[in-house]
Amino acid sequence: MTGPLVKYMMIGELPEDEKQARKIIFQSEYHILKEGVLYRVRKNQNRKSQLLFGISECKVLPQCLVMDILKSYHGFAHQGIQKMIGIISSEFWFENLYGIIKKFVGACPGCVKGKK
Ligand SMILES: [Zn+2]
Repeated sequence: MTGPLVKYMMIGELPEDEKQARKIIFQSEYHILKEGVLYRVRKNQNRKSQLLFGISECKVLPQCLVMDILKSYHGFAHQGIQKMIGIISSEFWFENLYGIIKKFVGACPGCVKGKK
């Protein structure tokens, strides 16, 4: 659900529902809007030193495009779940990214065959 979030970030309008409004304000801190495209901001932190070494932005992918992107990325090579998550998550963000990719690769006949 990125529609209300984009609306808030563009024109500052919040939904009437207080609970939803609060959620959107919270979410907006993790997002930026650039030329009409929503990006999710991610802090890159070194796990050992807890040192922040940069902030990366990845495109928020609308749900309707998720399958297209997965198919086109997966079409080149059957990367398997972990690699696929690495590639996609470095460029995009969408809700339930891990779950969707896991399910997608798990349902791919090529990958299932390759495992055997
Ligand atoms: Zn595959």
